[in-house]
Amino acid sequence: MTISPNYAIMGNMIDFNIPPYTGTEEKYIHQAIRDRKLSGDGRFTKKCSQWLEETLSVTHALLTTSCTHALEMAAVLTGIGEGDEVIMPSYTFVSTANAFVQRGARIVFTDIRPDTMNLDEQLLEDAITPRTRVIVPVHYAGVACEMDTILDIARTHHLQVVEDAAQGITSLYKGKDLGTIGDYGCLSFHETKNLTMGEGGALLFQREGALEQAEIIREKGTNRSKFFRGQIDKYTWVDYGSSYLPSELNAAYLWGQFMECDKIQQDRMQTWDFYHQAFEDLEQSGYLQRPVIPSYARHNAHMYYIKVADLETRTRFLSYLREQGILAVFHYVPLHSSAAGQRFGRFCGEDRFTTKESERLVRLPLYYGIGQETREKIAETVKRFFTP
Ligand SMILES: *Cc1c(COP(=O)(O)O)cnc(C)c1O
Repeated sequence: MTISPNYAIMGNMIDFNIPPYTGTEEKYIHQAIRDRKLSGDGRFTKKCSQWLEETLSVTHALLTTSCTHALEMAAVLTGIGEGDEVIMPSYTFVSTANAFVQRGARIVFTDIRPDTMNLDEQLLEDAITPRTRVIVPVHYAGVACEMDTILDIARTHHLQVVEDAAQGITSLYKGKDLGTIGDYGCLSFHETKNLTMGEGGALLFQREGALEQAEIIREKGTNRSKFFRGQIDKYTWVDYGSSYLPSELNAAYLWGQFMECDKIQQDRMQTWDFYHQAFEDLEQSGYLQRPVIPSYARHNAHMYYIKVADLETRTRFLSYLREQGILAVFHYVPLHSSAAGQRFGRFCGEDRFTTKESERLVRLPLYYGIGQETREKIAETVKRFFTP
């Protein structure tokens, strides 16, 4: 059976997301089945790791079962423990925080920059205490945080940096791939991200010495990876670990996506550029705001969002779009306002932008193969809301 990648309009609704599928994935999945190797660390896991290492220029890329799990691995590798503090934006996904909460750390949430929705690097110094160990920049929408400033501050205070680059595959900060700049970087290949394996992710790092421990954590705390390479003659329990190694079936799908990465990315970029152009006039007339890409960043068209006047306008706008057959969505509810966020962390300083900006944000449908007709319908429908 062949599935057309252009299955954009299903029923009468335009979906917010459709997982990317290029047609090459099945061939590789069949190969994995024929290899009689379905658990992890087979041919496709290795090919994917190598592709990431070469494409992103990073010493080590370990495929994982999710970005959530890559973050958990990074948290263990930083050596963070009970009572230590981690600084991160409140405007992020729960996994960014959970990974460190699981180690007994306290979360210190900082405010974001209204232009990129990223952690405001100017507020970092104020958030640092003698207990601070780690800073977690989240590259929202695949748009880079101001990494030079963040790394300078981290170096001065002897802190480690874990990049949540879940949305950042192929995005750059001053020419460097997101996820390869800090001590550890975490990518996601969930079906909502640019490239996917259903559920999956990767842990990136440059430090040679971290590889052995990272492999042990991923293999349930055993030295099984060494055993399979023939470096030892039996494997045992050597350290803390869990099960973070994805199946070959998932890796085979991802390999198909990697092979078509340029095609997927070009298509997403076209949609992003189309929206950006389409809403220029509405921005100039003051109806909405478009995303800002700082000069140090090259983005990957992970997301197209607009910001409307306020929460009330957004609520009306989202139900209008739904009535018109378009599934648009809002995004994170700031973590510091959630029950768990209050229990496991605190907000540092004043919430000038986190709540206000998050309440105005609307994400429009953007997926591989969305097609010109659908993009146009969405843009026209959005315009009609503001200028009937
Ligand atoms: C998607 C996402 C995650 C979680 O990724 P999974 O692979 O689904 O675990 C974490 N952080 C951010 C910023 C994300 O967008």
